[in-house]
This record gives sequence, structure tokens and C-alpha cells, in this order.
Amino acid sequence: PQLANQIAAGEVVERPASVVKELVENCLDAGASRVDIEIEKGGAKLIRIRDNGCGIAKEQLELALARHATSKVTTLDDLEAIMSFGFRGEALASISSVARLTLTSKTEEQSEAWQAYAEGSQMAVKVIPAAHPVGTTIEVHDLFFNTPARRRFLKSDKTEFTHIDEWLKRMALVRSDIHFTLQHNGKMVRNYRPASNESQYIKRLGQVASNRFAEHAVAVDCEHDGMRLRGYLQSPTVPEPSLNMHYFYVNGRYVRDRLVNHAVRQAFGELSVELQPNYVLQFDLDPHQVDVNVHPAKHEVRFHQSRYVHDFILQALQSALSQLAE
Ligand code: ADP
Ligand code: MG
Repeated sequence: PQLANQIAAGEVVERPASVVKELVENCLDAGASRVDIEIEKGGAKLIRIRDNGCGIAKEQLELALARHATSKVTTLDDLEAIMSFGFRGEALASISSVARLTLTSKTEEQSEAWQAYAEGSQMAVKVIPAAHPVGTTIEVHDLFFNTPARRRFLKSDKTEFTHIDEWLKRMALVRSDIHFTLQHNGKMVRNYRPASNESQYIKRLGQVASNRFAEHAVAVDCEHDGMRLRGYLQSPTVPEPSLNMHYFYVNGRYVRDRLVNHAVRQAFGELSVELQPNYVLQFDLDPHQVDVNVHPAKHEVRFHQSRYVHDFILQALQSALSQLAE
């Protein structure tokens, strides 16, 4: 099972940014409104993530760290199924098989916090009392310490940190209700304050995307037949446009899709190839109308009625642009 965990970890834990992704998604699942991320040496030395979510009960804490507790991989068939359909309940087990993990947590019901870590050659889980408010802190030390091939594969600290920073941007734009902070080597790099109304969201957009984008963005908000497109669009012809601001979310999930790029370009009419409009757009539709598991690690989706979706997006953008012209 240890081997199976490590193979599984290869898929889910590719680099520090993938660890951050899995852990922050857990914080959001736990209902956190604030997530603090501390990184040392690009994440290879330390990833520490603290949230104010519901916490993990003492008994669950041991389970979460017990290496194979949540691993459902027993045969090659299982492994193949996981490779093709993604992981459920595998992230912590996978990460703990390739790093030294410490969990500290307190639930509302508990009077004290507890910390769990694995120790010794048998990696027995130890649980000791700790100090922590309601919520969870997960520390991931020495990522890939026991898989040297993977460790060598890591890029420079700066590059790995950039991957984390870019991932957080994507998340911060769509989960604008969450307060995120990000530190690297003890220095606060990002402090994204939560937005609860439109003007605060524009502020956040300026902080996360760029001020230039926020100043010159055209609001989009259109609903039709169970589909909704909301967000901001920037003409590629504004002076000094922001670079590569292409954020598109389908039902809250970051997606890269040619269909969207195509519709966005078409909305502006004839555009020369070097001009690419910037956008931060959220598209929501009936989940049955879209396949998200085309490939778990890639940002692809397949719309069942792609022509229909394309035309709706095009019309929504055109109507936003025409209101601007009036
Ligand atoms: P999954 O998220 O698919 O259930 P994970 O391995 O990511 O699997 O997490 C295992 C479990 O550990 C979660 O289902 C949750 O119960 C608990 N957990 C992990 N992180 C947190 C957190 N930050 N706050 C509360 N519970 C957590
Ligand atoms: Mg998870």
C-alpha cells in the first residue's frame, strides 16, 4: 500500500503548488472564511496552511494521518480507476506518503486542540495536546524527502513559488468571499481581503489581477435557460492592456477552453491575432450539461451542447460591450 500511495501521490502531488491546491480545497470544504498560507523555499522545505474552518476531531486526526487509512488502492485496476477519474479521499494519504505531515486542529465541541504526527521507522501516529483556535493547521515538511527522483524534478524555489502564487490568484478571483494571505520565507507577499459587494470585488480584482484590468473592465452579467455568465472583460485596444489575464471558471472551477477564447475574440469583431482580450469570467450551468473529468489534472471540460454554450457566451459578451458603447 505504501507503494500504491506513492504512485497515487505522483499523480496528485506533482509539485508544491499541487499540495497547496489540495490542502486549501480541504480548508474551503471545512467552511473556512480565512486561509493563511506560509511557504519556505518554494514549498520544498515547508508548506504551512492554517484555516478557521470546522476543525478535525481528535479521532479523525489519527485516521487522517494513518498512511493507508483512506487509501482504496489494492489492485492495479483500482490504480487505473484513480488515474483516470481522479482522487477522492486520497489527498492527505498521498501527501503523507511523500512528506512529513503534522496536523493540528480543534473543533468547536472540543475544549482543547490536538496535534498528530507520524514518528519512527514504523511511522506510528502520535497525538499530543496542542494550542490552536477552532480550525486546522497542516504542515508539510520536506516534500519528496523519500522520493529523490521527484525531488530533483522540482524547479527553483522562485519558480515553484510562482506556481503557488498563480494558483492562488485563480482561487482568489473566484472565491472572493475568502480572506487569503500568502507568505514566502517569512515575508507577506499577498493579502487578499474578502469582498462582500461589487465595489469590494472590483478592489479585489485590482489586487489579484491588476489595477489596470480593474479600471478598464466591462461588467458582464447575463442569464439564459439555466446558464449564467458573470464577470469582467477588457478590450485589447485599451492603452497598455494587462498581460495574459485569462480566467474562466465553469461552476466555480478554473478551466482553459478554446471555445471561450473564440467567443471572446468574436465578441470584439475582427481582431488581429496578436490581440487577446483579457477576462475574468464565471460561467454557471446545469452540472449535467458538462463533463469535468476529461482529465483530472488538466483544466479541460466538455460541454454537451458546445455550440449552444458558445453562442450564449458570445451574446452575453456582445450585450455587455454594446451597453458600454451606448
Ligand atoms: P477528501 O477531501 O477527498 O475527503 P482528503 O485526503 O483531502 O480527502 O482529506 C481527508 C479528510 O480529512 C477530509 O474529508 C476531511 O474530513 C479532513 N480534512 C482535511 N483537511 C481538513 C481541514 N483543513 N479542515 C477540516 N477537515 C479536514
Ligand atoms: Mg480533499
